Amino acid sequence: QHFLQRIAQYDNSLNSFITVCADQALRQADAADAARSQGTAHALAGIPIAQKDIFCTQGVKTTCASKMLDNFISPYNATVISKSEATGLVMLGKTNMDEFAMGSSNETSYYGGVKNPWDLSKVPGGSSGGSAAAVAARLAPAATGTDTGGSIRQPAALCNLTGLKPTYGRISRWGMIAFASSLDQAGPMTQTAEDAALLMNVMSGHDAKDSTSINTAVPDYTATLNNDLKGLRIGLPKQYFGEGLDGQVEQVVRDALKELEKLGAILVDIDLPNTGLSVPAYYVIAPAEASSNLSRFDGVRFGYRCESPVDLTDLYKRSRGEGFGSEVKRRIMIGTYALSAGYYDAYYLQAQKVRRLIQQDFANAFAQCDVIAGPTSPSVAFGFGEKNANPIAMYLSDIYTIATNLAGLPAMSIPAGFSQKLPVGLQLIGNYWQESRLLNVAHRYQ
Ligand code: GLN
Repeated sequence: QHFLQRIAQYDNSLNSFITVCADQALRQADAADAARSQGTAHALAGIPIAQKDIFCTQGVKTTCASKMLDNFISPYNATVISKSEATGLVMLGKTNMDEFAMGSSNETSYYGGVKNPWDLSKVPGGSSGGSAAAVAARLAPAATGTDTGGSIRQPAALCNLTGLKPTYGRISRWGMIAFASSLDQAGPMTQTAEDAALLMNVMSGHDAKDSTSINTAVPDYTATLNNDLKGLRIGLPKQYFGEGLDGQVEQVVRDALKELEKLGAILVDIDLPNTGLSVPAYYVIAPAEASSNLSRFDGVRFGYRCESPVDLTDLYKRSRGEGFGSEVKRRIMIGTYALSAGYYDAYYLQAQKVRRLIQQDFANAFAQCDVIAGPTSPSVAFGFGEKNANPIAMYLSDIYTIATNLAGLPAMSIPAGFSQKLPVGLQLIGNYWQESRLLNVAHRYQ
């Protein structure tokens, strides 16, 4: 009731929720109370959570912030949702986001932009901007996000939260509406690393329904939070501290690194020479996969259908033309072009080769250090419309986050301090399956 009341009071101005599930939430809370009195409750039963509107929820609208899915009610729950329910978490509602998770500012949502609670004239970041704003404004104690190229970490940074993108394959993608399947990964967005660890315990694990989910044991992510950082080698990629990084953001990040040094960590300079290729490679691979994934939205099987089509081709054309927003259309066109017969070798195949080089960069770096650190985003939260007119400027806001998705590595953003009263995120990148290590560093720092 506390959080539902805060949503009712503040979300008119923030717009962080697309759907609020007040009645269902109170019923779930009652069920958690009942389980608790019978002694059968999970330790987290009754904790409220906001779910990004990219996760299919049985009986509750799932829109992906698109007109295309404005009327879509999934017949089943995503695995992330069913695991939350089995734990007894209470779903407060579904959060706003960039349409089909394409964006870095939440400005592409069919349901309108989300405001950054730290400064209502600024964006919250994206694509998980609604989840970030909801948690930052204490409309929910925690939320889920998804991260294809930075969509958990960048909004976490811009809203002063802890956000973790796990290793690709750690959390099931079943029922999570696909953007770029080889990059998409779900994760927690919370106030603290400890909360993130608790949610990782709930969300992680193998799922037979997702062939890319990996069958390795899930550790208790809270067990190692307090491990000593003495002797931990933190690699600082020179490419993450170069041109394009706001000077004050750099200062806040360097101050945070000094704190980690005081805790016993050793800072080492490292080289990720192919960093500059990650944005161009991503903007071939992600749209290519998106153009394929989004072909299922054809006006026949899901969501929006145009009025009175004259024939099948007209039905497809107008349903897609009217149902998708302009950024989604741009990605579908880029992806279709890159995958077409004459251009496949020149773009898609080249991008896949670059992807391997980027992965190799990280492998070489992890021979010299245990974790990698740097800024999450080159700037603090920016104004509405500031980058929206120029897609390239928007795409560059993910310059430090995209490479880890291409490599499949775990990475997180944690609050590092403020620049001009706006939050700055410190990014920590780990080797495969090193989520516990990242959470440990984050927890000791916090
Ligand atoms: N901003 C990036 C994009 O627009 C990443 C989005 C994401 O991680 N979902 O594709």
